[in-house]
Amino acid sequence: MPEYKAPQRDMMFVLNDVINVSELAELPGFEDATPDIVQGVIDEAAKIIENTIAPLNETGDREGCRFDNGTVTAPAGFKEAYQLYAESGWTGLDKSIDFGGQGLPYTLATAVTDMLSAGNDAFSLYPGLTNGACEALVEHGSQELQDIYLEKLTTGEWTGTMCLTEPQAGSDLSQVRTKAIDQNDGTYLVEGTKVFITGGEHDFVENIIHLVLARLPDAPAGVKGISMFLIPKFMINSDASLGERNPVVCASIEEKMGIHGSSTCVMNFENAVGYMIGNPNEGLRYMFTMMNLARLMVGLQGLGVAERATQGAIEYAKERKQATAINGGATIIHHPDVRRMLMTMKALTEGCRMVAYDTAKQYDISKAHPDASVRKTANDRVELMTPICKAFATDTGCEVASLGVQVLGGAGYIRESGMEQHMRDAKIFCIYEGTNAIQALDLVGRKMKLNLPQNFITEMAAKLEAESSNSELAFILEPMKIALELLDETTQWLIKAAQEDPQNPAAAAVEYLTLYSLLTHGYFWVIAAKAALIKQDDSFCQAKLATAQFFAAKILPRVHSLAPAIMSGAAVVMAAEEDGI
Ligand SMILES: Cc1cc2nc3c(=O)[nH]c(=O)nc-3n(C[C@H](O)[C@H](O)[C@H](O)COP(=O)(O)OP(=O)(O)OC[C@H]3O[C@@H](n4cnc5c(N)ncnc54)[C@H](O)[C@@H]3O)c2cc1C
Repeated sequence: MPEYKAPQRDMMFVLNDVINVSELAELPGFEDATPDIVQGVIDEAAKIIENTIAPLNETGDREGCRFDNGTVTAPAGFKEAYQLYAESGWTGLDKSIDFGGQGLPYTLATAVTDMLSAGNDAFSLYPGLTNGACEALVEHGSQELQDIYLEKLTTGEWTGTMCLTEPQAGSDLSQVRTKAIDQNDGTYLVEGTKVFITGGEHDFVENIIHLVLARLPDAPAGVKGISMFLIPKFMINSDASLGERNPVVCASIEEKMGIHGSSTCVMNFENAVGYMIGNPNEGLRYMFTMMNLARLMVGLQGLGVAERATQGAIEYAKERKQATAINGGATIIHHPDVRRMLMTMKALTEGCRMVAYDTAKQYDISKAHPDASVRKTANDRVELMTPICKAFATDTGCEVASLGVQVLGGAGYIRESGMEQHMRDAKIFCIYEGTNAIQALDLVGRKMKLNLPQNFITEMAAKLEAESSNSELAFILEPMKIALELLDETTQWLIKAAQEDPQNPAAAAVEYLTLYSLLTHGYFWVIAAKAALIKQDDSFCQAKLATAQFFAAKILPRVHSLAPAIMSGAAVVMAAEEDGI
């Protein structure tokens, strides 16, 4: 199994030449994000991930988590690796210094998560979900709850979970039944069962903080009656020491297709003591604070698994000899079809990195820029790109992992190669944190009503226009211009068709998200190609240009099959009777 090497050159290219990360250091609070610090963070994170965490990826998969009478033991080495990761300050990289964090931009944490997910996607979930819990507490928790819980979560001394799903409530959270009864002393007793809870129980840390969706007895039906509660595994005494065990019981863990190193737990809340976060019945809104960051994190899991599969496939293709290629090359990397697969993997992976890092930068601007209108514009971009980062990057993870198996031939199907693990791991990324269909419905529904897709189409058109005199970019500008017109036409069709029949956007949402994502990738490939053209004597930049050309010629044309499929409408999708399917 090939070792993971952090793609530092590409990461630094995206940070410096594509998204211009140095601009963040000009924002209040981010002055420390100087070029030296950025490089230092990437170097040091790469070391711990390559040397300590990535080597546990395969053993974690083989060994899995073990359940014994309510306790869960993670695979060998995970606990020690987690403790090292937390003690080295990585869990608090982008958290406030007020709570023991380092106060660096989220963009840097994104780059670290890119590496962490590629190194060990199952491991990455433990700190990953804690981030969502922290964000919800920062945004909506009372001062008292923040004082008690935020520092320990920031430093990684404790971990957090998101407890949304119940057997009857998955995509549809209006069906949440877990109950919370007010004890009129600032606490609630919470009763119910949550399923599929990532990191619900494990042996890394002494306390686990659950953020749980539940209903008050008099709550309105549906999503308007959901509140959010913080429920610790162990209560906290007034002197901050750990108190009694709260009746939060892990009933079992799931046997899964992939991410075996991550514990997926059935959690019973047996009149557990909880504290309400924010106001009653506003839990769904607070949940989206957690979910939005978690969705970006899952997108990074798609990117990470794609990166790792791509590295493994390239390494194998440079060594495997099968038939002399038409160009005389001895190894399979010289066969045009193998090259097609590798270039597809590389172009999609690098594209996802650019979109993810830029979205992270917009997130930082949306939080830290002194001008409210700039913050609003950046926030709009994050809102637009969240479903794209989540769904397209995770679909990419599956496509690239599958191509990775194909590049390795029979060896790819065999466990020892490590490639089949990537394919198994990748699938869940398309499902949790809102399935990719739910992401797509968000894009064609709420985001379209806010004009966000339309606004970015205008921005992309302006960018193409601004570059139009650059003849060296014609290879991508020309197909992008045609593709953008098609996207615009499809968007207008969707808006009109939605008024005629709401099933029209619903039937085409996933295809529309893919179409939109391809254009978004194209937009960033224009920026990347322009930057690479400036340094053409550098072999990395030559390869970057070749990849941009491959994207423009071989991947962007996918839009021409997607657009007519979208505009064919819902009738053809729904025509068959239920019994006839
Ligand atoms: C390994 C793992 C870890 C998880 N971790 C967590 C966690 O930490 N916390 C947590 O709360 N949950 C967690 N989940 C649950 C996960 O978020 C849900 O599985 C997911 O949201 C989908 O819900 P569901 O499984 O009930 O599928 P369903 O909602 O039943 O969906 C089934 C299918 O129907 C489609 N569908 C459903 N509704 C619609 C609609 N309105 N329009 C179009 N299509 C629709 C879906 O896209 C899907 O294809 C985890 C799940 C797994 C497997």
